[in-house]
Amino acid sequence: MPFSKLGLAPEFIRVIEIQKYAQPTPIQEAAIPAILDSKDVLGIAQTGSGKTASFVLPLLTNLKESKPLKNRHIKTLVVVPTRELAIQVREVFQLFSGALDTPIKTMAVYGGVSINPQMKALMGVSILIATPGRLLELERLNAINLSEVQTLVLDEADKMLNLGFKDEMNEIFDLLPKKRQNLLFSATLSEDLSGITSVVLHDPVTIKIGEEKENIELITQTGYFISEEKKGPLLRYIIKSQNMKQVLVFTSSAFKADQVTEKLRKNGVDAMAMHSKKSQEARVRALTNFKNGNTRVLVATDIIARGIDIQFLPYVINYELPRSPKDYVHRIGRTGRAENPGEAISLVTPDEANHFRVIQKKMGKWVTMVDGETLNLHGF
Ligand code: AMP
Repeated sequence: MPFSKLGLAPEFIRVIEIQKYAQPTPIQEAAIPAILDSKDVLGIAQTGSGKTASFVLPLLTNLKESKPLKNRHIKTLVVVPTRELAIQVREVFQLFSGALDTPIKTMAVYGGVSINPQMKALMGVSILIATPGRLLELERLNAINLSEVQTLVLDEADKMLNLGFKDEMNEIFDLLPKKRQNLLFSATLSEDLSGITSVVLHDPVTIKIGEEKENIELITQTGYFISEEKKGPLLRYIIKSQNMKQVLVFTSSAFKADQVTEKLRKNGVDAMAMHSKKSQEARVRALTNFKNGNTRVLVATDIIARGIDIQFLPYVINYELPRSPKDYVHRIGRTGRAENPGEAISLVTPDEANHFRVIQKKMGKWVTMVDGETLNLHGF
């Protein structure tokens, strides 16, 4: 079904054309009519499935003619696990809201930056995208009031549980009115999550779009057996010899991310690090530069990579393996998106070999292995 038949405000159709969205993605086709109809929705879908527009478009359509509430009351609350995702979701709201004669004021709030400018800017905001901690802080300071929220969106809900937001979420639920529309999006439906869904959602329309697992068919996976001390030279060898222009490298700690970045730079490879110890500004700058193609390599930890969408990313390299097999699939799923091929490479020390076998077994796919020790890494 084309976008024009889904019941969206006509102003958005022009923006959709400019964005070159040829037709609704499966989650959009299913979620848009349900949200327009004020139903609760449980969407099981990945980043990259078009899920942000699937709630942004109908929510803006529903709010189009309405006036802002008084006294810092929020109408639509979107709760997300990370600052980057808050910014990304807000950009989509902004993009479409800007097409309206009277744009609806949207704002993203998150920690790690000073709270005062956020408090001032909140006046007249109807749609708020927030990470849980900062949201509660602002509420305690009376900078916002959540008692008249009409729609609550929980984005990447499974990740919020992983990141331990349970208590904060319960506090947030207590501040919301009982009667409201609830939209919950998650990449997977875990047992933990079913607890939340049964409490939060009322008679939801459930939409399940192929899990990340199914998308990995598009990704060529390779592993290199290599000793710990040769990982750096091998990484540089792979990047340089294959002339990779845009590579996302994963490490397991912030310390390692910084170290790998510095070594890449010293060896003439343009790189930036992105992890939770960096300031918010530095994180946004690193991601923007990388997305725009101005930085060749982004070295990141898992926490930052959650939910981030980088269009047409060709390469992901695991400098270190993630602990959980699920995270491995998430990481490599940053490439091979929207039907584009991608390549995922893992550097595996003898100590990690057994763990890599477990990952492959859980993934249900075996990865071609290369003996990195036989490569001539001299000069890298
Ligand atoms: P998301 O799953 O919300 O992170 O979106 C992933 C990417 O898909 C974003 O870059 C969107 O701009 C893009 N996108 C969203 N809807 C469509 C569509 N119908 N057709 C093509 N691309 C889309």
